[in-house]
Amino acid sequence: YATEIDEATGMVVVGAPLDPRVPARVSRAMIENLDAYPFPSDTPVPYAEAVFERASVEIARGCTEGCRFCQAGMIYRPVRERSPQSIADSLIGGVEKAGYEESGLTCLSTADFSSITPLVKSLAAELRKRGVSMSVASLRAYGLNEDLLDELALTRISGLTFAPEAGTQRMRDVVNKNVTEAHIEESSRRVFSRGWHRLKLYFMIGLPTEEDDDVRGIVETGQRMLRVGRELAGHRAEVTVSVSSHVPKPHTPLQWCAQDPEPEIKRKQQILRHTAARDKSLRLKHHHSGISFIEGILARGDRRIADVIEAVWRAGARFDGWDEIFEIERWTAALAASNVDVPAYLGTRPVTARLPWDHIDVGLEDGFLLSEYRKALKGRASPPCGKVAGMLIHHTNLAEAEPDRRKLVCYDCGVACDLTKMRDERLVALRTLGATERSVRAIEVVDAIVDGELIDVSERGGGSPAEVGRTKDRETERAERVRLAGHHNAGLAFTSYRIRFAKIGRAAFLGHLDLVRLLSRSFRRADLPLAVSRGFSPKPRISFGPALGLGIPSLGELMDVDLEHVVPGVKTWDVVDDSTRVELPADEVRDRLAAVCPPGIEIESCSIVRLNGHPSVTRDGVKPHLGLGKLIDAVDVVIRPAADGIAHDAARLSRLAAALMARPEAKIARGEKMIDVRGLVLDVSVIDGDAALRLAAALDWANGPLLRVRIRATADGSAKPSEVARALGVWGSDDPRGEHALVARLGVVEVGTLPPPTSGRDPALHESA
Ligand code: SF4
Repeated sequence: YATEIDEATGMVVVGAPLDPRVPARVSRAMIENLDAYPFPSDTPVPYAEAVFERASVEIARGCTEGCRFCQAGMIYRPVRERSPQSIADSLIGGVEKAGYEESGLTCLSTADFSSITPLVKSLAAELRKRGVSMSVASLRAYGLNEDLLDELALTRISGLTFAPEAGTQRMRDVVNKNVTEAHIEESSRRVFSRGWHRLKLYFMIGLPTEEDDDVRGIVETGQRMLRVGRELAGHRAEVTVSVSSHVPKPHTPLQWCAQDPEPEIKRKQQILRHTAARDKSLRLKHHHSGISFIEGILARGDRRIADVIEAVWRAGARFDGWDEIFEIERWTAALAASNVDVPAYLGTRPVTARLPWDHIDVGLEDGFLLSEYRKALKGRASPPCGKVAGMLIHHTNLAEAEPDRRKLVCYDCGVACDLTKMRDERLVALRTLGATERSVRAIEVVDAIVDGELIDVSERGGGSPAEVGRTKDRETERAERVRLAGHHNAGLAFTSYRIRFAKIGRAAFLGHLDLVRLLSRSFRRADLPLAVSRGFSPKPRISFGPALGLGIPSLGELMDVDLEHVVPGVKTWDVVDDSTRVELPADEVRDRLAAVCPPGIEIESCSIVRLNGHPSVTRDGVKPHLGLGKLIDAVDVVIRPAADGIAHDAARLSRLAAALMARPEAKIARGEKMIDVRGLVLDVSVIDGDAALRLAAALDWANGPLLRVRIRATADGSAKPSEVARALGVWGSDDPRGEHALVARLGVVEVGTLPPPTSGRDPALHESA
């Protein structure tokens, strides 16, 4: 494409194609039928904890709300919903394949998904059977109807989030956020009255026509919701107000608006802090003003910005969306070097100007964005499209949806929705979900007066003042409901298994919590039903032997796990309540778990143990096995000395071993303290020949003689392998970049195991537990 400078703005804009095969405007690609591209259920499962770590399905694309700042809401039109069956297949499939304990539904506005309430109901029932919780993202203040909240209240999510976006009704009309103060308040009532004590509200500053009162209105809205929370949930109620700075985006009605310069953003953030200071219990968060400034330059920039990004990257910028490593100086230097006129990039653009993104066709009619922009400046809202005028959310049942033949709102934005098809598909979805009748509660309570405004409390959000007078401890009540819902099998017979496994290769770098999470997921993937602890957040009953240092591989770890009894051949979640259940054989547990564990976690053996407290021990008078806490009193480790320019042959290692064993004590620094390593070392021997070869191969080490050390490991303490290597004089450099000894754990030593007969040369590798 040829490029030109637009005279009105000084921006580089795209002109005619230089190649006749290239279209004058580039059209977006769009998938009409999302079901033709099922949402993937085979996703990578992280070893270490990650954000958004759950089975998550995008249930729809596009949005009917027409928020004027939202680029996604404009460029992903029209709304396309996945069918309930396709969503269930992806979500349940994702949970089963990954073993996740959490799942989520996402889209630009889940409350506007046409059958969200029956969908959540049907999915939640299936997920509860699997012990999996569900969250619903991007809820709107009006979409929180009673039935939906009742379902969500049975999950372990600890709070809800919604986005009023602006703190006054005037500003919400400017940005076309179809939410009223009454909706926000009533949704808060519904959230707090169900036992949640956390509410998070998202807002923006820097919106067009904004005044200081609008900024103060953000905090004041949060403070009002906090008062609602205290009334219903007591002192534990928490409201967080999170405020970002508006960045005008291309292809939105606000694309011509000025962005607040950084000093103005900072001034408004100061107003927020000052207003919030009146009541310190409101939590206020706001974005980094410098990052918003750069986002504004990038969002509406022209081709010159490519050079800026490259220059900043060359200057060392990485992950600059993270406050802690963002450095504005790199950006300001690069902007100056590329002659970027910052005020022009952030300022108001004339509606007649050519814009750097004009050659990209997202399907909208030219006049649509402009008419919405003009309405914004006049503070006039446009009701959502694709819905009947005046309805905020869709009918949730066929009894109401089928006879309603009223016209759906449409602004002819250019994407040419087939409104008849849209309506028919919604009916099909409700039919598929069996949502035929209106809920009993919705029939009983239809309207209520809140702040003098009549609002529907059944399906469209709104309020239920009747709830206000309740004084019970709702949080305790909800916790109990969640516990029962999450424990539909509470009290089932279980068996304890002792599993020996190796943790090698990259898996050695898994921390303890990550290992617990990974193994819990592996049990779920293998449909081995974990018995869980009681309480609001039930945890799998898994215990481990002595802690293993991060990065240290082990060939012999132990864990004890309780598994519920099963009905052979039937998936856990398909078992009916009165079926006869049996104990899983230990070999089957070993094989099924081994088949699903990731590389580096190798399941070696499994046996049934009868631990103290198990009903079979009490009932049959069986002598209980020792639990791992009492069973183990030492660990065996292996050390490969650092080369250090010295040839460590077996004879030399034997001398070092004997020297340590002959010392009365060997003090090594551990932080501020000195510990006596010698007192904790029970034995040192040398592994050489075939045994060393096999061991080095298993650990992916170079071959050579190795030191084997038995170290006491009790509740009173233990020595780290690196400390023993230091005491032996084979650790090597203390500089982390220098070479040091390699260490690994061979296994654990059970109480009562005789110590090796002599110290010194160990011709064969004797077995650890
Ligand atoms: S064509 Fe009409 S219903 Fe479809 S997205 Fe545009 S305005 Fe909304």
